[in-house]
Amino acid sequence: MKSGFCPYSTGASSYFFHSILFPALNTPTLPHPTTHPSPLDILGQVFGYSDFRGPQQAIVDHVVQGGDALVLMPTGGGKSLCYQIPAIARQNAGHGVTVVISPLIALMHDQVGALHEAGVSAAFLNSTQTQEESSLLEKQLLRNELTLLYAAPERINTPRMKGLLGSLHERGLLSLFAIDEAHCVSQWGHDFRPEYRSLSLLHETFPDVPRIALTATADALTRQDMIERLKLEDAREFVSSFDRPNIRYTIVEKTNATHQLLRFIEAEHAGEAGIVYCQSRKRVEEVAGMLEDAGLKAMAYHAGLDSALRQQRQDRFLREEGMVMVATIAFGMGIDKPDVRFVAHLDMPKNIEGYYQETGRAGRDGLPANAWMTYGLQDVVNQRRMIDTSDASSEEFKQVMRGKLDALLTLAEDTRCRRVSLLHYFGEDSQPCGNCDNCLQPPVVWDATEAARKMLSCIYRVQQASGISFGAGHLMDILRGKATEKVLQHSHDKLSTFGIGADLAEVQWRGVLRQLIAKGMVRVDPDAFNTLQLLPDARQVLKGEASVMLREQAASASTDRRKKSTKTSAKGLAEASLNAGALERLTRLKAWRAEVAREHNLPAFVIFHDATLRAIAERAPQDLVGLEGISGIGVKKLEAYGAEVLRVCAGTA
Ligand code: ADP
Ligand code: ZN
Repeated sequence: MKSGFCPYSTGASSYFFHSILFPALNTPTLPHPTTHPSPLDILGQVFGYSDFRGPQQAIVDHVVQGGDALVLMPTGGGKSLCYQIPAIARQNAGHGVTVVISPLIALMHDQVGALHEAGVSAAFLNSTQTQEESSLLEKQLLRNELTLLYAAPERINTPRMKGLLGSLHERGLLSLFAIDEAHCVSQWGHDFRPEYRSLSLLHETFPDVPRIALTATADALTRQDMIERLKLEDAREFVSSFDRPNIRYTIVEKTNATHQLLRFIEAEHAGEAGIVYCQSRKRVEEVAGMLEDAGLKAMAYHAGLDSALRQQRQDRFLREEGMVMVATIAFGMGIDKPDVRFVAHLDMPKNIEGYYQETGRAGRDGLPANAWMTYGLQDVVNQRRMIDTSDASSEEFKQVMRGKLDALLTLAEDTRCRRVSLLHYFGEDSQPCGNCDNCLQPPVVWDATEAARKMLSCIYRVQQASGISFGAGHLMDILRGKATEKVLQHSHDKLSTFGIGADLAEVQWRGVLRQLIAKGMVRVDPDAFNTLQLLPDARQVLKGEASVMLREQAASASTDRRKKSTKTSAKGLAEASLNAGALERLTRLKAWRAEVAREHNLPAFVIFHDATLRAIAERAPQDLVGLEGISGIGVKKLEAYGAEVLRVCAGTA
């Protein structure tokens, strides 16, 4: 963000917008209602898209008519249009401005820039603005020159903002409130922001102004909390399918995570943009350094960096091609870069909501993308410890968090289609997808009941013999019959379980233990040096009443899988279909787009998406008519860039 004041908040674009839709009118005076463009017209003329996706049409119709809505749609599903189109339609009908509440201050500049590129008058209010700038903006609002105003939640609660909203309301110029990332209001969501709690004020103060709340977090607890906290009891709920079919899910056993990551990127995503999530700041720095040493364009991002540096790195990620962002979960909310080709988790997230939200940042453009995670025993131990030792939260809260973690562990160990499991978690039934690791290479399952019994009785015997518990490494040594110094010191070589597990490799034992932890039979005690303790559920297996099926931890499986997926890697599919001429045109168009984006201080995808450039390169249009109907080219972009695009395409620019 160059300055806090948005350059796009001029009245001119509002005039411009009206003049595209109503060529006969040069001022934003309201025409007769029947001449208003329909939402579908707006979708085509402003955004250049021909069809609504999923429930978009129903949502837009409902909100245009003044209804309240709660929208649950996966990341990349197309939430923005659900409020942007009603904002335009309602502004056309004389209702004034739509106020968008969003926690994403760092992205407001680009969001507003994207709207401006499409010919929509929009602005944002943020805390870096001077008095003078703010009052200028306020005047514009009172003159009804803006269609959308973005503001941070903490801003809404200030006396000045309340006064402004009041004045707009008095004049009938407060059209709609859009509450983006609405799960931030809930402590069960993964991005709790206390400022969101005061948003209930909107409804209390302006009960007649419609509201639309949007989120990609759909678990029942968070949903209920959102409804109560934001007072959306009467809002209509719109729940989309949470499937993101273009994302391929892969979860691999962690051996050497950083090497695995490097191999994955080199094999499938060389030169492409991606996000790598790690648990700690230290690890983020290490991994970013490692990727850089390996010659990749990589940067670190976490809350420990000062905000200017964070903003700078975020801008680079959005603006430069092929950057890898290595980050903690502090990065990513609202990142609408459409061509992120992979999201990798080097450490396991806290729960499925977080995992799904983070992986959803891959492939927003609908082209093939990868969600790849490595996970191991240590992840389970770490996450459990974080829950158990957080003294800020109640026992009830911890219990909910443990349940959520268990669901993610089950997903990681699952031998069924990952997508079926994920969607099931969000309450959706589906069929095996053919586009996840388990579908592409069904895991070999073995009956680990006997092994599980050995492990459980070993834990029991050790505890009984020594009166204290021991950690995973020591137990595996006993099982495998390794007479280490520690084993001898405690006389654990005398136990009946010493050496009874020599038939399995350590990696297999680790798999067994992970399962037992995931199934709640064994607990890792964070207050006692991560020692292992039996839980009541272990009894069933010990008594032979329950069986344990495990996925094979074959080292070769991952190599095969990699080979298999390389053939259809994201990059392969994205560019394979272009002939030499089209590829040349695409290269020229990308260079031109980069230039325009730099001039406008915006990410390249805000000018045109890759998919739009590819369609142009393929079609090789001769005139403006030839550009019409290409997805992503609205009236304003056609007017602003059409002629230039034709020249670049023809190689005469
Ligand atoms: P979300 O906020 O739900 O994560 P976005 O609003 O950023 O998703 O939309 C994701 C992508 O899909 C954007 O690039 C957007 O331009 C595109 N998109 C949304 N709706 C449509 C549509 N009806 N037709 C074509 N593309 C769409
Ligand atoms: Zn599958």
